[in-house]
Amino acid sequence: MRKAFGFLNFQNLSAFPASPRENNLSLRLRSSGSICNAPNAPPPLVKLDSHQHFWIYDAPQYPWIPEGSALHRSWLPEDLARIQEPLGFEGSIAVQARQSLEESRWLLSLADAHRSIRGVVGWVDLRDARVEEQLEELSQHPRFVGVRHVVQDEPDPAFLLGNDFQRGVSQLARFGLAYDLLIYPHQLEAAIGLVERFPEQRFVLDHIAKPLIRQRTISPWRENIRTLAEFPHVCCKVSGMITEADHAGWVPEDFAPYLDTVFEAFGGDRLMYGSDWPVCLLAGSYQQTAELVENYTRQLPLAVREAVFGGNAARFYRIKD
Ligand SMILES: [Zn+2]
Repeated sequence: MRKAFGFLNFQNLSAFPASPRENNLSLRLRSSGSICNAPNAPPPLVKLDSHQHFWIYDAPQYPWIPEGSALHRSWLPEDLARIQEPLGFEGSIAVQARQSLEESRWLLSLADAHRSIRGVVGWVDLRDARVEEQLEELSQHPRFVGVRHVVQDEPDPAFLLGNDFQRGVSQLARFGLAYDLLIYPHQLEAAIGLVERFPEQRFVLDHIAKPLIRQRTISPWRENIRTLAEFPHVCCKVSGMITEADHAGWVPEDFAPYLDTVFEAFGGDRLMYGSDWPVCLLAGSYQQTAELVENYTRQLPLAVREAVFGGNAARFYRIKD
């Protein structure tokens, strides 16, 4: 595990390849009114983490958790509060980590007990003929804000374009729910096809589609991100990056080309910071994930930083309080 993290001033920002980032951003900032906005009422101005997980560790339920790693234990709201509060975060969006209705119900019960859980992105079987029933039930809860399927684990690169899956997606708007796209770069083309088909549906791309940061690969991820971002009803989480880098040896500069790409493509009103805690602990601390994005955005106006660190997520997920 990397110990020193001495980039607080992030002076290298000025050494990043010259890019039209600032100009693009300031242009885009003036254009609000994307579908990520709630139809009425300004969102509460809170510092939010748009993406984290909770679990009670149980080997058969979490086969992807490496034994002996930092993830190999239970992580619950009390643990997150201890880490978040000193950093000024007032809440988070808790995202599913298993594909079960039982987990969705459990996350909602945690939200009942912890006000800091402002929203829950749960799982329903979108391919199930009875998906409406599942959505109906979970939507009774005011903190149920979205749905996610672990598409990254689906062997078919065109999984998102399957008829049954799309039928499920077509039901979400009716319940006022967002959809979180958890995919790898090779699935971006299918994601573009999906969002094109559902212009009324709010989508958010998780973890900037997990580019191959460790291998320093940028294409065709970058081109596909630009295409996806052309759809105004798609937002993007600036999250999950350090686990795609060299866990033990990453440096902030590793992320610059990827951050430049998403900031240029999505602009300041469609990006939302997420920690991906506790998964981030495989490669660094909660604080490091926040600092990475804080330092990168330090060059941007305060209003953009506030939007990325809460306002955009609150609007996108229609957080009410
Ligand atoms: Zn995650």
